[in-house]
Amino acid sequence: MVSAREKLHSITKTLASGAGVFDPAFEAREIIREYAGDAALIGGGLDDPQTKLIDAAVSRRLNGEPLQYIFGKWEFYGFPFYVGEGVLIPRPETELLVDIAAERLGKNSLLIDLCSGTGCIPISAALKTGAKCYAVELYDAAFSYLTRNIALNRADVTAIQADATDGTLFPGLEFDAVISNPPYLTGTEMKSLMREVAHEPETALYGGEDGLGFYRALIPAWSARLSENGFMAVETGETQGPAVAEIMRESGLEPRIIKDYAGLDRVVTGEK
Ligand code: GLN
Repeated sequence: MVSAREKLHSITKTLASGAGVFDPAFEAREIIREYAGDAALIGGGLDDPQTKLIDAAVSRRLNGEPLQYIFGKWEFYGFPFYVGEGVLIPRPETELLVDIAAERLGKNSLLIDLCSGTGCIPISAALKTGAKCYAVELYDAAFSYLTRNIALNRADVTAIQADATDGTLFPGLEFDAVISNPPYLTGTEMKSLMREVAHEPETALYGGEDGLGFYRALIPAWSARLSENGFMAVETGETQGPAVAEIMRESGLEPRIIKDYAGLDRVVTGEK
């Protein structure tokens, strides 16, 4: 038996010695909590199997792997999501897209999310609003996370493995909301990824040389699929708002740029 508090101190130090662990005390606490539970942190001890799991997690973390992949699960909008190699980790700022959808949708609404990854957006939107949600994801590994996360959350989401730039998917349906957090990093940004982000799939990050490739493909392809009072909402990088607003305008939608909780441009909506 080792005391959890002692272990907390020692792994905080170890993590602090590793390059680029941003908040060693926070991560050390999360690691102990993950493998030994909250109670351990208020005076408990760790048995051998717990200590082994904790040490293995610390050594993977020192290798630059994101904490979320090591745990295999992460929370978004208060709901649990499986994550791991091959799928983008849900980011807190992406919750803004769910808030925007939740303001406008109800039980009878239809939402489609493009480039879904873990499915954090359509699953949270379905659970929060009761809307019928659809999800499109191209890549095998990400699609398998998407279907597992739908099951985990028992969400009313229909998933399809397909290229989201094909605006003819789910023929005959008109959507009250078309939502996407597509890959949007530029060629230059891809060359200087943080160590953790470099573990995430390039296919979920790279938006073409200027980062705007997916907006140019998705917005015209899906603007025609909106219902009468429908809208699109896409996440963007913090400098991309005006360019994406212009793409919305070219597709006949009335754009608006919305800031995230850090005060940065983060979402562009387009009203029909
Ligand atoms: N926000 C992510 C990052 O900064 C990028 C996600 C995306 O390209 N959609 O790494």
